[in-house]
Amino acid sequence: MIDGFGRRIDYLRISVTDRCDLRCRYCMAEKMTFLPRKDVLTLEEIAIIADRFIARGVKKIRLSGGEPLVRRDFGELAHRIGRHLHSGALEELTLTTNGTRLAQHAENLAAAGMKRINVSIDSLDPETYAYVTRGGDIAKVHEGLAAATAAGMRIKINMVAMKGLNDDHFLPMIEWCARQGHDLTLIETMPLGDTGEDRTDRYIPLGEAVDQIEQRYSLEPIAYRSGGPARYYESADLQGIRLGLITPLSDNFCAGCNRMRLTCEGKVFMCLGHENHVDFKTAYRERGMQGVDEALDRALVAKPLAHDFRITPDGVSGVTQRHMSVTGG
Ligand code: SAM
Ligand code: SF4
Repeated sequence: MIDGFGRRIDYLRISVTDRCDLRCRYCMAEKMTFLPRKDVLTLEEIAIIADRFIARGVKKIRLSGGEPLVRRDFGELAHRIGRHLHSGALEELTLTTNGTRLAQHAENLAAAGMKRINVSIDSLDPETYAYVTRGGDIAKVHEGLAAATAAGMRIKINMVAMKGLNDDHFLPMIEWCARQGHDLTLIETMPLGDTGEDRTDRYIPLGEAVDQIEQRYSLEPIAYRSGGPARYYESADLQGIRLGLITPLSDNFCAGCNRMRLTCEGKVFMCLGHENHVDFKTAYRERGMQGVDEALDRALVAKPLAHDFRITPDGVSGVTQRHMSVTGG
C-alpha cells in the first residue's frame, strides 16, 4: 500500500480497548468516560479488519490501547492475528502494555508468536510511579517483566519524559535497563486529549535527557531504524543498550511515517495528530469485506503529510481532542 506521498504503509496499530486500569497523568483524566461496549469492535471484527490489512501488505501489527490486557478476549485475538505469522504474511505481532497484568498473560502471548513487547514505566521509584499512574503498583509490573522474560520475550521500556516529575530519573532507568537486558525508548509528552494536567509545563526536549546520560556514559548515534519515528543511540558503556528517542515536538518525524491506526471504535486514523479518519466499522457492518477494501483505499489517499503539534512560547498548539488511549499509542 502506497499513500498519496509515496510512503509505503506496512504497519498497523490497533487499539483493542479504550479502558485502562491506570490513569497516567499525561494520558488520561482521573475520571474518564469510556465508550459504550456496543460501539467497540468485536474480536471478530478486529480480526477481520486486521486480515484485510495483512492481505493488502501490512507486515507488522502492534496491539495497544488503553490497556490491551484488560480486554477479556485479548489472548484469543492475539492467537487469531498471530496465525498470519506462520504463513509469513505477517512479519511481527507485538504489544504495548503497562505490564500490570503481564504475569498472567506472558506465556500465552509468547505462544501466539509475540517475541518483543513494549512495557511502559515512567519511573522505577514506587512512589513516583504511583503518582504518575495515579495509583499503580510497580511490583506488579516487575512480576510481569519477569514472566515475559521467562517466556522468552524481549522487552523495551517506554518512558515518557516529564519536567519536574521524572527528569532526574533517566540515569537510574537506563542503568537498570542495561542490567536487565531491556532496551529503552524515551518519549516527549504529546498534547493528546484533555487530562486535567498542563503538559506545556511538563514538556522537556529529549536533548536534555541525552545530555544527562552523556555526562556519565558514552552514547553513539546509530543508523538503526525500526520503521517508526524513533532515532537510536547505542552505549558501549551500558552493555550495548539501544536507546530510542521519540521527539514529535522537538524534531518532527513524519516524512518516513509508515503506519495507520485502528481505534477500538473501528475508525482508522492516518495520523496521530489529525482528526480526519475513515470509519471502518460502518463500512464493514454495511458492506462487508468490500466495504473494508473501499475504506482502505480512502484512508490511503487521505493520509496527511505531517502532524501539526507545536510547542511555542505561547503554549502547545495542534492539540487533538482524542486521548492516546483511544487512538492507541
Ligand atoms: N496502556 C499501554 C501502555 O501504557 O503501555 C498501551 C497504551 S499507551 C496509550 C501507549 C504509550 O503511549 C505508552 O508508552 C504511553 O506512555 C504513551 N503515551 C500516552 N499518552 C501520551 C502522551 N500524551 N504523550 C506521549 N506519550 C504518551
Ligand atoms: Fe493506561 Fe497506558 Fe494511558 Fe497509562 S499510558 S493511562 S497505562 S493507556
